[in-house]
Amino acid sequence: MVKKFTFSPFYENTYVISDNSDECVIIDPGCLSQVEKEKLASYIIDNNLKPKALLQTHTHLDHVFGSAFSKRKFNIKMYIHQADLPVLSDVEMRCKQWGIPGYEPVTADEFLEDGSVFRFGNTALHVVHVPGHAPGHVAFINKEERYIIGGDCLFKGSIGRTDFPLCSHEDLIHSIEKHFFTLPDDYVVYAGHMDETTIGQEKLTNPFFNL
Ligand SMILES: [Zn+2]
Repeated sequence: MVKKFTFSPFYENTYVISDNSDECVIIDPGCLSQVEKEKLASYIIDNNLKPKALLQTHTHLDHVFGSAFSKRKFNIKMYIHQADLPVLSDVEMRCKQWGIPGYEPVTADEFLEDGSVFRFGNTALHVVHVPGHAPGHVAFINKEERYIIGGDCLFKGSIGRTDFPLCSHEDLIHSIEKHFFTLPDDYVVYAGHMDETTIGQEKLTNPFFNL
């Protein structure tokens, strides 16, 4: 099951994925205030879920506000793609620049490899490297339940911004065409911001593509 929270002034989507084993993973914890952090933790504790890992689609500031908290609270490791290391190490400085108080710096523990499979409980998440919005951006595909946790690549009617450092518009378009639009139309896209959509709907209506 995919549980979505929308946190912080950035309206970032945080996901907790669990299955009938009661194991779960936390993806992109963007909880910034204490109230938001407690909301995430309460959901996990109240449902008797056992967190196995903290996974990051990428490490822009709005996706890692609650990463240090999640690691500490549940004693889990943080997984990122290695190419996002310079993004993660920049977060503290960017929070100062933007005037965002309350960020607790965090370090990654493990690296996610393109083409690998991350397993917990009865769930298999296929990891694909989808650079563009961030150099070490990955997406997680659940073939059993037919969805992709896509981060900030493909949005309902839009795509991720590429006007930040280390972004590439060409790479983003290529990543979406190669790893999103090759999925079947009924796959649900759980994005890093805004509502979920489907591959079929975006192929038909997304203004950034002319398929
Ligand atoms: Zn981002």
